[in-house]
Amino acid sequence: MATHPTGEVDLLVVGGGINGVGIARDAAGRGLATLLVERDDLASATSQWSTKLIHGGLRYLEHYEFRLVAESLAEREVLIAQAPHLIEALSFVLPHEPHLRPAWMIRAGLLLYDRIGGRMSLPRSFSVDLERSRWGAGLKPKFRKGFVYADARVDDARLVVLTAVAARERGAEVRTRTRFTGAVRERGAWRATLRDAAGTREVRAKAIVNVAGPWVAEVLDTVPHLPTGASVRHVKGSHIVVPRVHEEAHAYILQNADKRIVFVIPWQDRYTLIGTTDVPVDDYEKPAISPQETDYLLELANAYLAKPLSRADVVWSFSGVRPLYDDGKSDPSSITRDYVLKTDAGEGGRDAPVLSIYGGKLTTYRKLAEAALQALRPWFPAMKPAWTQGDTLPGGDLPQRDRDAWVAELARRYPRLPEDVVRGIGRRHGTRALEVLGDAKTASDLGADYGAGLTEREVDHFVRNEWAASAEDVLWRRTKCGLRMDERQRAAVAARMGA
Ligand SMILES: Cc1cc2nc3c(=O)[nH]c(=O)nc-3n(C[C@H](O)[C@H](O)[C@H](O)COP(=O)(O)OP(=O)(O)OC[C@H]3O[C@@H](n4cnc5c(N)ncnc54)[C@H](O)[C@@H]3O)c2cc1C
Repeated sequence: MATHPTGEVDLLVVGGGINGVGIARDAAGRGLATLLVERDDLASATSQWSTKLIHGGLRYLEHYEFRLVAESLAEREVLIAQAPHLIEALSFVLPHEPHLRPAWMIRAGLLLYDRIGGRMSLPRSFSVDLERSRWGAGLKPKFRKGFVYADARVDDARLVVLTAVAARERGAEVRTRTRFTGAVRERGAWRATLRDAAGTREVRAKAIVNVAGPWVAEVLDTVPHLPTGASVRHVKGSHIVVPRVHEEAHAYILQNADKRIVFVIPWQDRYTLIGTTDVPVDDYEKPAISPQETDYLLELANAYLAKPLSRADVVWSFSGVRPLYDDGKSDPSSITRDYVLKTDAGEGGRDAPVLSIYGGKLTTYRKLAEAALQALRPWFPAMKPAWTQGDTLPGGDLPQRDRDAWVAELARRYPRLPEDVVRGIGRRHGTRALEVLGDAKTASDLGADYGAGLTEREVDHFVRNEWAASAEDVLWRRTKCGLRMDERQRAAVAARMGA
């Protein structure tokens, strides 16, 4: 393969998960020439396999992670304001199990959770009678008392893609299907090698940010003379999806005798998402749920739900790997979920830096990006200050930040378009739905109808504006329409994408 030089950038970001795109967006907005490379599709790894919560993490209080919880709760407010089309408030019910955690402990935890992040727009926690209210929907009658608190739910893969769009709009270059294969220091900068379908290219970069998630150590291993990134622990978390287990809008947080908790979350209108597990793994290339994990989740759900679930109810499952910083703890649930940044700038600490990111949550990605740029400031002293706190993600400038009202407004503006198409596009694109729908008047103006609310017009938008290159990119990341389609419908999308 030929090798072509492709010029010079300030920052080369390796990895197009939430943390990579967050850093690229922030860096570009501060005036740094930024190139992000992702070996597969955006959000093709951990960032699409999360529990999909923008949350403080109530259970982290038990591990004394006060800094992380406070920052996450404050970020919950910021992110809801930036992307109200992708993030929405969700109530969680914790059924009381006195032998697992006493009521005073839960009340104290919730009191802290309500306050530790500062002023909040979401409602504060309260106690409920599960027996005589909608808050006990779907539960066994033996659960009488519970606690309700608020958190938020997110479309994780779209958060990544729209943050990448924001990065591009600020001047970053985003290249998917482009793998970083190594780099050497040369005259105070990096000479990095990138590989894509067209061949191998080289780029000079003043700094590299290694945000390759589970592969953070592998990326370091491709760079000579660096300490290896041995300090990462890979912990698999799996989810199952079943038909909706109750008709109310709230989620459950269920406690298990092993002290772990599992969420039961209404998802994609007609389903319930149940997860997650915590299993240390050595093989993290293509994580998949094991039968034991499925049974663990079903068993715990069945300890609470009135109508038992079985393996036959599982319509989909997925697993992701948390790239956690190894803080020496043996219990996978208690390893810190906080992010850790490590900079290597050669002997004497003055050469071109590589900054590696470990751990983190979707919820803290914007703060992580700020911390990353702060760590790089010595190499870019003229860089502009932090700016993303007051920004809005593409399509997030909804009137009154009200997604349902926006979808209703779209339905008024496009009265002859199918309702599920308008709703899907309104939720996925926010105000940019107007760019997708344009002057369409009737269903036939939207081209082929693939089912589940997906049309050719939107697929074209994904290809033109959101780096979609395969059916999987469209069906499982830009949308979750794949879940509601049959084989024939999915094949039609694959044919459109040339796969
Ligand atoms: C089961 C589970 C549930 C979770 N639930 C939540 C939740 O509810 N809320 C929350 O806030 N957080 C949650 N998290 C945490 C959150 O999902 C992760 O912290 C976050 O997604 C990590 O993002 P990342 O960008 O660091 O890594 P990734 O998303 O894994 O991205 C890394 C990217 O780097 C790319 N890459 C690797 N090597 C190369 C290379 N050589 N060249 C180019 N690209 C490369 C990969 O293809 C990948 O796309 C959860 C995590 C898991 C596993």
